[in-house]
Amino acid sequence: MTGAAAPTGLDAVIARGAEMAAAEERERARMRGMRFDTIAVHGIYSAEATLANQGSIIEPAYLSPAQHFADSDHLEAALGYLVPAWGYTRMANPTLHYFEETLALLESYATGVTASAVATGSGMAAVDMAAAPFLAEDGTGHRPSVVVGAPCYGGTFQLFSERYARERGVDVRWVRDPLDTAAWARLVDGSTRLLYGEMPSNPSLAVFDIPAVAAVAHDAGVPLIVDATVATPALLRPLGLGADIVVHSVSKSIASSGLAIAGAVIARHGIASRVGPDELRADFALHVKLLPFRDHGPALSPFNALMALTDLRTLRARMDAWSRSAMLVARFLEAHPAVERVHYPGLETDAGHVVSARDMWLADGADGEGAPANRFGQLMGFTLRAGQPAARRVLDGLQLVRRATDLGRVKSIATIPAISTHQQQGEEGRAIAQVPTSLIRLSVGGEHPSDVIDDLAKALERA
Ligand SMILES: *Cc1c(COP(=O)(O)O)cnc(C)c1O
Repeated sequence: MTGAAAPTGLDAVIARGAEMAAAEERERARMRGMRFDTIAVHGIYSAEATLANQGSIIEPAYLSPAQHFADSDHLEAALGYLVPAWGYTRMANPTLHYFEETLALLESYATGVTASAVATGSGMAAVDMAAAPFLAEDGTGHRPSVVVGAPCYGGTFQLFSERYARERGVDVRWVRDPLDTAAWARLVDGSTRLLYGEMPSNPSLAVFDIPAVAAVAHDAGVPLIVDATVATPALLRPLGLGADIVVHSVSKSIASSGLAIAGAVIARHGIASRVGPDELRADFALHVKLLPFRDHGPALSPFNALMALTDLRTLRARMDAWSRSAMLVARFLEAHPAVERVHYPGLETDAGHVVSARDMWLADGADGEGAPANRFGQLMGFTLRAGQPAARRVLDGLQLVRRATDLGRVKSIATIPAISTHQQQGEEGRAIAQVPTSLIRLSVGGEHPSDVIDDLAKALERA
């Protein structure tokens, strides 16, 4: 996707562009035959691309806002989207392109699905870019509706309830128990434009049956959008289960070092939609990138894309190790007398365990060569028998685990969502989203799990 060299005439420029696109498609096809870790490490940054970038073995950070064109033909072809080009970093950029291509390959890994990705400046920008195109006027004047799994990230709850429902008049229909597939189906009708759910959800770790809810969406001719931030493509690839669009807060487990905020929308080619042009259905992520994304401007910094790409390379190994640590921590909490309940899909006692154990598998298995292994991620929630005062005392007693509204980090982090991430949605909103006031959200990082457990044990003495 770098600029073509000294072409003559518009036709020559377009012919050269077609060659570049074909070469890239060959590289994509070649990488689809590789294992998850190999794709994560190389993406489509081939040996040829490496040589074309002065031999830089790591994808270079193209910080230039704009691309220089060989001549006016090249300029015209690029801005008319007739050739692969990047033009201007708000629309596209080579570093962003390497990141997007890697994400698209990982998200569709071993699914047989063809997908494209668009990287965004944050996870919230990704949620908005994924949902908003389906809320367009359809010429009937009827109010559009969306059906949304209520246990979700606080920012997403606010986006749907404040920005879409209150400001734009969208009818937002909440599914209180997303595991109840019939509840989704009951809320879908002729006005429905999309179904949206988190798998698993932040912070209550609620799950839903993606294949069953995707069937409900497809019966209605609308897409299912899944926020799979908590799972990451190393543990769950919703496109392979029937979902149409996946969104990520890349800021979390994908960019676990905590050096960048970023997001991404990854969509299968050929989705159903009741509104929008054919291009939207054919390749949603590309359509979003070329038009709504260009016009709204939630671009990701190329520097942040490189930070995220650097972490993405080791995603599978990290999610494997940290999920195993989280499992030990969850078992410790479950057995603790001061703890009322632990929400972690890996626990047999968890309401979502059966569906999670069916759908959440470490890519390429435990040994990297196929022995199947369930893994359930870094995030859990737990409530205390003695209510919120005890939750505050426990949070304040942590000495190793950091207190922050963050998750998916290499460092273990805890918060009380009711007074932080889910404060603004109020008591009623928290009841809908299943966020009790005594809930502590815990994200287990890369420390030795025994040290995390010791820290929790000491803090829980204050419960
Ligand atoms: C954090 C988060 C978001 C929002 O992502 P940002 O990168 O903070 O904008 C969306 N969904 C989930 C599940 C999250 O945890």
